[in-house]
Amino acid sequence: MIRKVGEHAIVLGAGISGLLAARVLTDFYGRVTLVERDALGVGLPRKGVPQGFHAHALLPRGLQILEELFPGLTGELVAGGAMPYEMIVQLRMIMGGHEFARMPTGEKGVSATRPFLESHVLRRVRDLPGLVTADRSQVTGILTGEGAVTGARIADEDGERELPADLVVDAMGRGGRTLAWLESMGLDRPEEETVKVEVAYATWYLRLAEGTLGEDRMVLVGTYRGQPKGAALCAVEGDRWLVTLGGSAGVRPPTDPEGFFGWIDEVAPADVAAAVRAAEPLGEIGTARIPTSVRRRYERLSRFPEGLLVTGDAICNFNPIYGQGMSVGALDALALRDCLREGTRDLAHRYFAAVARALDPAWQLSTGADLALREAEGARPLQVRVLNAYIRRLQRVAARDPRVAVAFSRVSGLLDPPSALMRPAVVWRAVRG
Ligand SMILES: Cc1cc2nc3c(=O)[nH]c(=O)nc-3n(C[C@H](O)[C@H](O)[C@H](O)COP(=O)(O)OP(=O)(O)OC[C@H]3O[C@@H](n4cnc5c(N)ncnc54)[C@H](O)[C@@H]3O)c2cc1C
Repeated sequence: MIRKVGEHAIVLGAGISGLLAARVLTDFYGRVTLVERDALGVGLPRKGVPQGFHAHALLPRGLQILEELFPGLTGELVAGGAMPYEMIVQLRMIMGGHEFARMPTGEKGVSATRPFLESHVLRRVRDLPGLVTADRSQVTGILTGEGAVTGARIADEDGERELPADLVVDAMGRGGRTLAWLESMGLDRPEEETVKVEVAYATWYLRLAEGTLGEDRMVLVGTYRGQPKGAALCAVEGDRWLVTLGGSAGVRPPTDPEGFFGWIDEVAPADVAAAVRAAEPLGEIGTARIPTSVRRRYERLSRFPEGLLVTGDAICNFNPIYGQGMSVGALDALALRDCLREGTRDLAHRYFAAVARALDPAWQLSTGADLALREAEGARPLQVRVLNAYIRRLQRVAARDPRVAVAFSRVSGLLDPPSALMRPAVVWRAVRG
């Protein structure tokens, strides 16, 4: 039996992190209001989440958490047209220029577009008791009293109104407003770690002739030292393939069909390139640019107002090439749940510490991989150089040794911590290989 800790909680932003935070909060608060400036439930990539047009892989750990919070969701996604796949078996990984060997893992994933995934999660959230949505509503500020946050101010077509609450959660993504609110309350902003990634995407939806890529449901071609060009091909709902080209360290993918094909020819195996060339295009090529990854160290602040928390990209946003953002938002939701189980005393401090522990591995993986690119800017301490040399070796060995391929993919899927790659069995295979 879960104990209620308050009357009303507000979640600001209904992206994936906001939806998952709302799911957790309905267990602990009598009423939860989910505020979103876009119209919800329309399915298409919406204005507030323009990145939803591009490849949005949900890592296996992210899917596990979604299934834990919404039992049966995976089945609903598949029934709706999402493509189920088995890691390593139907997920073809080409990392460091090496195509990984395959073996059954039993570890399942689903491939779908971000709007499709989000609309299914939203449907489940809307069914939760005590959940109220306020969409087409802009968050304009917070309410404060005696150094605490006591609610939020929102504006819709009928004007501005105040929503008093016991807890307000900022889930407004990269544009999260907490930094400005802390300043307005005379409090320090958190330290920020920034990594310049200069990533650019170009995405095209295609229809591939049936069976062209055999059993493959996803093909990931990673960037590596000397090759800042990568690609992701994902079979998604609606019998389509979503093909995203990713350029790192300032390299921008072309947006014309011939250039698009040329990039795929250069980075992907010949059968994949041929399948893309032979495919039927479905619409225009869309682009995105991501200049930096930013981690805000809320856990290091000595003072943080009661009644306020932050989640998802508003705490930490990653280089999207590694597909971690939504899964880390899910980890934040679990941290919130676990902290609320212990009550609300010292909540912010406990919560930010738990989030920091949960996102450390993902941050370590993505920033380490960014610095592995010769073209990327940033200091490379000895530890990073040694680790990156080891990863390069593992990727080479994974082309012949499926057990190393599995160990590698479990870590990049956030199922195992990076330290799993240092287990004696893996190190031995890497050295021998
Ligand atoms: C090009 C690209 C590709 C990516 N690929 C992947 C991938 O493959 N896998 C993966 O896991 N992640 C990926 N990501 C990262 C992922 O998109 C984010 O990590 C994820 O969206 C974070 O969710 P969020 O809910 O924290 O923020 P968001 O999804 O940004 O949601 C924030 C919400 O807040 C709302 N909002 C903002 N301001 C206001 C306001 N003032 N009032 C009301 N509402 C407001 C917005 O409309 C939006 O709905 C990618 C990102 C990019 C840019």
